Amino acid sequence: MQGICLLGATGSIGQSTLDIIEQHPEKFKLVCASAHSSVAKMADICRRFQPSRVVMGSLSARDELAALCPDLPISFEWGDEALEDIAADAQVDQVMAAIMGFAGLKPTLSGIRAKKRILLANKESLVTAGQLFMDEVARHDVLLLPIDSEHNAIFQSLPQHAQGAHKKHVSKLLLTASGGPFRSWSLDEMRKATPEQACKHPNWSMGQKISIDSASLMNKGLELIEACWLFGVTPADVDVVVHPESIIHSMVSYLDGSVIAQMGNPDMKIPIAYGMTWPNRIETSVPPLDLVSIASLNFEAPDLARFPNLKLAADAWYAGGTAMATLNAANEVAVAAFLERKIGFLDIATINGAVLNQLESCPVTSLDVVFEADRMARQVTTNIIDKKDWV
Ligand code: NAD
Ligand code: MG
Repeated sequence: MQGICLLGATGSIGQSTLDIIEQHPEKFKLVCASAHSSVAKMADICRRFQPSRVVMGSLSARDELAALCPDLPISFEWGDEALEDIAADAQVDQVMAAIMGFAGLKPTLSGIRAKKRILLANKESLVTAGQLFMDEVARHDVLLLPIDSEHNAIFQSLPQHAQGAHKKHVSKLLLTASGGPFRSWSLDEMRKATPEQACKHPNWSMGQKISIDSASLMNKGLELIEACWLFGVTPADVDVVVHPESIIHSMVSYLDGSVIAQMGNPDMKIPIAYGMTWPNRIETSVPPLDLVSIASLNFEAPDLARFPNLKLAADAWYAGGTAMATLNAANEVAVAAFLERKIGFLDIATINGAVLNQLESCPVTSLDVVFEADRMARQVTTNIIDKKDWV
């Protein structure tokens, strides 16, 4: 029986993880869970799974939740310290890091330091603190399993997991991208795109922020950086391939000309269950892949002129140090402003580029440096947006 700490339980990855736990009650027990503010959803999770500890983002959310579940033997907690604490709880074997954005960094690091199996959905934590994050994984000899479907696919397509022995045989990692809802839109159409249109992903049902990132290809940019840290490569070793059907989740190309791909219906339960049971596999209730009815798979190159975020991510990687935290923070602020209709869709990438240019990158010598870069980039981005200073 594996004890699970589910960080971000009320989100899209959270729900899929709960689905797997519910299907295999003899294998998994939800021990700890967190959510930011979704009290009603969390009350339902508390009734169904009865975890020992639950952490909410604020005192008021915690009190509301506790009032909704008066008879349940659950410790209701709140705040950042409690969040870090549940990731290190003695009853926990695996931490599912499924908080949205930079907010996921500290609790994920806490799980690493407590030597838990880390199931990493929260790509922003690895993107922003990459070297430091990977150093902690190595220092504590932790099993880090990628949940992002592309990285999970690459992990599955490598003969020996993560450790580098495979590298001399690998020529490229082929990172697939659906292209998002605007794949075939003109720049003029994209300029007028609304948050509703941007959130309508053709293949995946996901949280709002990652849906916008998928539409702007920033998600692929973050994933490019994520792949570099996870698999010890550089952007030059990774080709992004647009594959609109999202059936191939990514591939590894080998020196002899072989290409190994992982395929499946686009459902996050597959990589989640794989991470939770690796090196074994369990049923997920995802329907089997019916290639005959899918009939054709298509591929094209990404268009960097319409989707400059992808290039910005590679630039940030090569700039190194805090540049990746800067880009991530700018993007989090710009996406929130787009969702609030303060800026247009194309402005997201323009603003990201302006902030990345404006702030000099420094070496990441400590976690404080990452937090300072994040804080500074949020401030600069907010100023740029408030003053309409990017046009
Ligand atoms: P979501 O918006 O559906 O859920 C986010 C969860 O995080 C919620 O439980 C929310 O309460 C919590 N949260 C939000 N802000 C928080 C904060 N400041 N502090 C603490 N908790 C907070 O997001 P999602 O789609 O489930 O994505 C979660 C993470 O997984 C993201 O990093 C995303 O990039 C990654 N991911 C998601 C998918 C997917 O299919 N949804 C695929 C790959 C990777
Ligand atoms: Mg992905």
